[in-house]
Amino acid sequence: MTDKTVVILGGTADARKLADSLVESRGDRIRVITSLAGRTKNPKLPKGEIRDGGFGGAEGLATYLSETGCDLLIDATHPYAAQISRHAAEAAKAANVPRLLLNRPAWEEQDGDNWTHVPDIQSAADRITRYSQACLITTGVNDLAAFAGIVTTKMFVRLIEKPENLPLDHAEIVIGSPPYKTGDEIALMQMLGIDLMITKNAGGTGTYAKIEAARTLGIDVIMIDRPALPESDTVDSVEGALARTLENLD
Ligand code: NAP
Repeated sequence: MTDKTVVILGGTADARKLADSLVESRGDRIRVITSLAGRTKNPKLPKGEIRDGGFGGAEGLATYLSETGCDLLIDATHPYAAQISRHAAEAAKAANVPRLLLNRPAWEEQDGDNWTHVPDIQSAADRITRYSQACLITTGVNDLAAFAGIVTTKMFVRLIEKPENLPLDHAEIVIGSPPYKTGDEIALMQMLGIDLMITKNAGGTGTYAKIEAARTLGIDVIMIDRPALPESDTVDSVEGALARTLENLD
C-alpha cells in the first residue's frame, strides 16, 4: 500500500523521466500522479497515474491537492508555462502542500551565436520583416497568431503535430519531434533557405541542435527570453528533483 502522494505538473520530457524514476524506485510506497494540460493528441505517457486537463485556476488546483491528499507538488512544466507555475505556487500555499520547481537551465549564448533578445512573442514578430526572407519559427503552436500580419517573409513553422487550425494561412508547417540532430537541422535550414530563426530558450538537450545548426550556418536567432516564475524551492535536473523528493518523503 502506498503511503505518500506526489503530484507532478507535467507535459515535458523531464516530467516524464521524473515520474518514471519515482515509480521505478518507490512505486510500492509513493503514489505518483502526472497532470497533463491535455493539448497534445497522443502524448508520450509516463509511468504512474495520469490526469488530464486544466484545474480551473489556482483554486481548482488547491482543491485537487487537498482531495488527493498530496504530500508534495512538483512543478515540472515548461519554463514558458508561467501561468500554471503561478497557479501551482498559489495553490500549494493555500492547500499547505510543499512545492518543488524543476526548471532546467537556460541555454547561454556562445561564440558564433548571434542572438537578439526579446521579451515576448509580439516583439519577435515585430522584428521579422526587418531581418528575413525565410524564417523558421519554433515557438510552439500557442501564440502563432502574433505572426499573422507578416506577408513579406516566408515563414516555416515547426510543430510536433499538425494543428487542427493554423492561424497563419501563408506559413508552411514542418513536422518534427525532438530529440533533433545537428546535421539534420543544418540540412533542413539549408533546404528551406532559412536566414532567421525565432525560438524560446527551452534549455536542455532535446532541441539544442537547432541552436548549433544556426551557429554553424551563421543564421540570426531571435531569442524570446524566459518569463519570470514565482519564487520557488528550485532544482535544475531530474536527478536533483528525484533526490529532493525522496529526501522530502522518506
Ligand atoms: P500556461 O499558459 O502556463 O497554462 C495555461 C493553463 O493550462 C493553466 O492555467 C492550466 O489551466 C492549464 N495547464 C497548463 N499546464 C497544465 C498541467 N500540467 N496540468 C493541468 N493543467 C495545465 O501553459 P501552457 O498553455 O501549457 O503553455 C504556455 C507556453 O509554454 C506555450 O506557449 C509553450 O511555449 C510552452 N510549452 C511548451 C511545451 C513543450 O514541451 N515544448 C509544453 C508546454 C508548454 P487551469 O488554469 O484551468 O488549471
